Amino acid sequence: METVRVLVTGGAGYIGSHTCKALAAAGHTPIVYDNLRTGHAWAVKWGPLEHGDINDLASLSDVMRRHRPDAVINFAALAYVGESVARPDFYYQTNTAGMITLMQAMRLHDVGAIVLSSSCATYGIPARIPIAEDTPQGPINPYGRSKRMAEEIMSDVCFAYGLGGIALRYFNAAGADSDGELGEEHHPETHLIPLVLQAAAGLRPHISIFGGDYDTPDGTCIRDYIHVTDLASAHVAALSKCRSGEFSAYNLGTGRGSSIADVIACARAITGKAIVTQPEGRRLGDPPVLVADASLARKTFGWSPAHSDLENVIKDAWAWMTIHRARVAPGD
Ligand code: UDP
Repeated sequence: METVRVLVTGGAGYIGSHTCKALAAAGHTPIVYDNLRTGHAWAVKWGPLEHGDINDLASLSDVMRRHRPDAVINFAALAYVGESVARPDFYYQTNTAGMITLMQAMRLHDVGAIVLSSSCATYGIPARIPIAEDTPQGPINPYGRSKRMAEEIMSDVCFAYGLGGIALRYFNAAGADSDGELGEEHHPETHLIPLVLQAAAGLRPHISIFGGDYDTPDGTCIRDYIHVTDLASAHVAALSKCRSGEFSAYNLGTGRGSSIADVIACARAITGKAIVTQPEGRRLGDPPVLVADASLARKTFGWSPAHSDLENVIKDAWAWMTIHRARVAPGD
């Protein structure tokens, strides 16, 4: 693939920063644009950092004029489901309106290709498992709706103005860079694997298990955990598949499901820690099973997960947590 200059909006965040590393490793130049509200300046290591907001057309325009990107990857988003219910307007402003602003800036500066960070939350509670891209999308919270709307708008804009767009619908992103250069730092942390590992590290007294009475083999929810390094490589591969005037969407997952009990058992084995569990009621809006059919990404851009065995995901996340205990500790 020829070398491209890629504007990575939200590139100081968890998946964005791993993608910048993958872009640089493939010979591309990532230019990060981030408001640093949830992203971290320390995670920007492979190119310049431009400070700005996804809704600021003048600032985006200035950055595009100076850096002349060939393509954009958009990670700039709010991503807490619970918060999206409490403050839906903020979610639509950032995740949906932000996409409009970004694509307006692209048109002003003749940037022809965009990859959007989307989510399996756009499917809601799916009618069938595994979930393929043609499974009807019925998001059940404002976060999922903000992403589905962003996809719909992107599709119309790509068609109308000849942009090439790809939306990547992630399942459960987890793990950390295996070189220890990057990892997860969310405040607050709400995701299962880092919380289980915080309990293993003694940073929390226990891990809550939300629901033990689902119709699954062990009664706990099943998810498809995908290593963040595999997500990163999919973005690099997708860039080369953006075609003028076309929009397409791809699932990114492993096709294998792991239950909460599986995750905890695996974390116990890897960390050697007991990990205290606390049974709790079901969390509102949790589908019992979410597993991807990601065969379309494999067929279309030859992508397949190479790092996403659950053991490997948890091993890398644990290595990151043990080195950066203070950074990931809850309560700050
Ligand atoms: N979960 C849990 N305890 C926690 C956090 C999450 O039991 O402290 C469960 C959650 O209810 C879901 C699964 O773990 O069934 C994965 O949740 P996560 O928030 O990591 O990702 P989601 O699938 O919601 O995007």
